[in-house]
Amino acid sequence: MQDLEKKIAEMESSALKAIEEASSLDHLEQLRLSVLGQKGELTGILRGLSSLDKDVRPRIGQLANQVKVKIEQAHLDRKDRLFQSHIEARLSQERIDVTAPGQIMPVGHMHPLSQIRQEILSIFSSMGFVTADGPEIETDYYNFDALNTPASHPARDEQDTFYTNIGANVLLRSQTSTVQIRVMEMSKPPLRIIAPGRVYRNEEVNARKYPLFHQVEGLLVDKDVTFGQLKGTLTAFIQALFKKQVKTRFRPDFFPFTEPSAELDSECPFCNGKGCKTCGGRGWLELLGCGMVDPNVLSGVGIDPEEWSGFAFGMGLERLAMLKYGVNDIRHFYTNDLRFLEQF
Ligand SMILES: [Zn+2]
Repeated sequence: MQDLEKKIAEMESSALKAIEEASSLDHLEQLRLSVLGQKGELTGILRGLSSLDKDVRPRIGQLANQVKVKIEQAHLDRKDRLFQSHIEARLSQERIDVTAPGQIMPVGHMHPLSQIRQEILSIFSSMGFVTADGPEIETDYYNFDALNTPASHPARDEQDTFYTNIGANVLLRSQTSTVQIRVMEMSKPPLRIIAPGRVYRNEEVNARKYPLFHQVEGLLVDKDVTFGQLKGTLTAFIQALFKKQVKTRFRPDFFPFTEPSAELDSECPFCNGKGCKTCGGRGWLELLGCGMVDPNVLSGVGIDPEEWSGFAFGMGLERLAMLKYGVNDIRHFYTNDLRFLEQF
């Protein structure tokens, strides 16, 4: 019997030593199984108790159970410590430094055309004009006929646009003046609208021309509207846009839907009229077209031209943006080159 007691004592000390030295949770579990598992050494001894003599059985049984409790306790202690150091190791490796600087995302800004559109709309909004919108795919009625430009009119040639296969008369609008007609059909005067939007022309691409560009159209219809009011409104607009007291001049021009019609020039705000690169040495900039609404256009939409009168104007956004920001090629606005866009 002393052999068995000795064996149990040796197993105890070697198991406790191995547990203490176990370097990982996996290793510790293997040790536990080898002693306390179903096929473990100590489990085998406890199973064999029944074959021992009755007089030694209680002593060996008690000893084996004491050792079992000791080893179980040592195993749990070691497991706790190994788990704790495992957590600490992970925490120190995966620590988040909340004071580290974050990733800075670049902040974008509005496209230069959007910027100048916003600026123009806000100037006219301060004068009581309301923004109106209309479709880009139009019929030739809204794009030409209703604007006093019948099929035989030579002005149609200057605004050759893109026709669709939806129908012979369905086209991409060549001007935002179409919105005037749609608004006048739907609402009664007095009216004050400003209509920004994309327009299309069948034109060769170069530094000054592009098949797609943007216009802003304005229309005022009221009683006893005078050309003096048109001049005052547009001069106030130009001075607000250039943030400068510039002179303006109105040169006679022709548009089918206004009578009389004029081209508005402003004194070059960059050289104060002395002549520079922007104004081509002339001292004046051609900015927009305008005029008094033709009575034919009013009667065409059911507004009595004897009772009501009005003025209209239209300008190209790209042209104004090119002048204001000193851009020499219209194509820069559409190529999405950040080296260009980031300058605004
Ligand atoms: Zn100039």
